[in-house]
Amino acid sequence: RDRNLEHILAQIDGRGYASYRQLAGTHRIGAFRLAIDHIQIDPYAPPSRMRVILDRETAGFPGELTCDDAGRIAVSDFMTRRFHQAARRIVPQQSGTGNSGVVSIGHPGQEVLERTSVLIAPDRVEARIEVGLPARGRQIRGREAARLLTELLPRIAEASLIHANLDQRALDEHVVLLRDQEHLRRSLPGRGLVAFVGDGAILPRLSGDSDLPLKTGDAVPFTAPETLRVRFDLPSGRRVSGMGIAEGITVIVGGGYHGKSTLLHAIERGVYPHIGGDGREWVITRPEAVTVRAEDGRAVTDVDISPFITNLPSGSDTRSFTTTNASGSTSQAANLVEALEAGASTLLIDEDTSATNFMIRDARMRALIPADKEPITPFVDRIRPLFAERGASTILVAGGSGAFFDVADHVIALDHYRPRDVTAQAHDLATGRRKTSPGAVFSASSSRILARSSLHPPGKRKPAKAQGRAGIRYGEATIDLASVPQLVDLAQTQAIAHAMDRLADLLDDQMSLPEAVTALEQRIDAEGLDWLSPHRGHPGQLARPRRYEIQAAVNRYRDLRPARKR
Ligand code: ADP
Ligand code: MG
Repeated sequence: RDRNLEHILAQIDGRGYASYRQLAGTHRIGAFRLAIDHIQIDPYAPPSRMRVILDRETAGFPGELTCDDAGRIAVSDFMTRRFHQAARRIVPQQSGTGNSGVVSIGHPGQEVLERTSVLIAPDRVEARIEVGLPARGRQIRGREAARLLTELLPRIAEASLIHANLDQRALDEHVVLLRDQEHLRRSLPGRGLVAFVGDGAILPRLSGDSDLPLKTGDAVPFTAPETLRVRFDLPSGRRVSGMGIAEGITVIVGGGYHGKSTLLHAIERGVYPHIGGDGREWVITRPEAVTVRAEDGRAVTDVDISPFITNLPSGSDTRSFTTTNASGSTSQAANLVEALEAGASTLLIDEDTSATNFMIRDARMRALIPADKEPITPFVDRIRPLFAERGASTILVAGGSGAFFDVADHVIALDHYRPRDVTAQAHDLATGRRKTSPGAVFSASSSRILARSSLHPPGKRKPAKAQGRAGIRYGEATIDLASVPQLVDLAQTQAIAHAMDRLADLLDDQMSLPEAVTALEQRIDAEGLDWLSPHRGHPGQLARPRRYEIQAAVNRYRDLRPARKR
């Protein structure tokens, strides 16, 4: 039913805010339809959720651009960015109370993520937006609202959702770039690589709180050492060269401030594709690479950390380790084991964020403190079994200790931000292979079954909700995700919050967490990211999270309880 939006708005002008509820439903505005799915209760509440819908024919995107996942994700990302820019250009300075006059589609960062912001379906294109309906005090500003919804919004939509009005060259490049990047990512396993860092890449960021590239004159572009240089021919005909990081164990060394952590951070973010101009377009990492760091104070529930830690003075069983307050080393061990449980193929570890006693123990300490008095078997003794038994590669930054020379397949030294292959020299310095413990250490891991009831706490009445990028409100608990560095976007956090609600329903006493997350991912693949949302129509601003971050959130939930072992 088409209703005249302007007519309603003229009628309710000056009335109490609740009269905005009359807008619910779908309205025709020129070539667009405006579906008003949820109306905010007052001007200060989160803005109203609306969808701007147009027929695929009117939108005019060639099928060639949207015939595959990468194409659809790239086009949707491009439209989202253009909508965001157009909204900033076209909507005047906000006036009025609370969120009056806000028009938002979310603000993608440097990554290109699958999002709910623009849906590209066979029959239609939909922009999912939030609009703050205008008010003075708590009174409706009907004329303002009419201008916003019937004049400005169509102009924004026209500029961003119609193919003919977009910069088509830029759009084509955006699509081609993402297809090439994803092709390269898929090619890594076949070449025996876990990561690729392209020649010319700009890795450093503008500042500690900005994800933008450091300015060209200030940054030293990446150049691969000749011995590690690999080349890829990509579907567009583009050829890229750069440093290949092979499966196995790679150690990054070098003086302080010579760019080690910067390289590792770029690799850690390389699990996501980056936009053109970011500098990390050709830093491509396998999608199953997970950063493992120390995180003292976190809660751990029923994790088998016995490959690293046994015989704790407290007497607790480290095959099913539970604590409300992990130490540096136990938290890092738990993070590592949980990453493996979630299916990590590659571990990324930086000395800056590691517990020293988890990583190494030197000869003097081994002499002073007998092995049976030391609960920790350091990572240096486990890094090879990890690869041999679980196929998990490691990329490790270690500027402070040569202990890993013995176990490294490759050693890369950074010197004034320039990498050199120093594997041969490092092996000359190695004191000999470390003896590995007899028998398998990692293979005998048991699957954890979580108590479904613990995800249904009595105090939980509302859906889980993101609190900024690094937190989730789950019932009365807050889940702290500040130490989960590959969670990069608030919209991912919100998607994880919904995913936890879905998991609470999916999990049963037969199903391990990884199995439940796999089932969840299959549903998302089949039905789209919208499926995660409890809302019909506008699903909210969501971006696709990886399974590692979904499991990281569940694992950090302090009221998690195990059911039993299988
Ligand atoms: P490390 O881990 O070796 O101590 P970092 O990676 O933290 O060093 O880098 C130290 C500083 O150098 C940071 O401010 C970083 O932004 C800067 N930096 C890193 N790589 C480059 C580069 N390629 N060009 C210019 N500056 C860089
Ligand atoms: Mg560092």
